[in-house]
Amino acid sequence: MKKQINTDKPEQTEQLAEKIGHALRGGEVVELVSDLGGGKTTFTRGLARGIGSADRVASPTFVISKIYKGKSLELHHFDFYRLADAGLMEYELHDVLGDSGIVVVVEWGDVLAHVLPDDRLTIHLKRTGDDSRELVLSCPETLHYLVENL
Ligand code: ADP
Ligand code: MG
Repeated sequence: MKKQINTDKPEQTEQLAEKIGHALRGGEVVELVSDLGGGKTTFTRGLARGIGSADRVASPTFVISKIYKGKSLELHHFDFYRLADAGLMEYELHDVLGDSGIVVVVEWGDVLAHVLPDDRLTIHLKRTGDDSRELVLSCPETLHYLVENL
């Protein structure tokens, strides 16, 4: 299914992500797609809050992944910006996929698309103005519960 939602400030994107974060059950994969500055990390900040995490969310610049601890789930945040090939990350990602206590969120996932499950929530973010973004969420029926109440 597909859903389009427009936000007109960063906080609104965070709130939307927080709602999705609330609905997470564990074991899901969220892929975020946009240009640089599109709002992927901003969205991730809301997701982390949604699982009850107080951890600071920032772009993992010198590391490729970060872990935010929520009340009952962990959010593993991968950012593959400028990663030329999958290499060992393939194994690292594979290790956490399908773990029922972990939710995986991925920025710049193209290079590892072959490792990501088909059953994932994909969100395309598009800049429509300085403070506005158009979000297109798509997921299979099995992940309907993540987007049905937005
Ligand atoms: P990315 O991770 O995709 O490179 P970031 O989330 O790091 O993007 O940066 C997005 C920037 O755009 C932030 O400075 C954020 O405050 C700003 N911004 C402005 N409007 C929005 C919006 N509606 N939704 C998300 N971010 C927005
Ligand atoms: Mg980012």
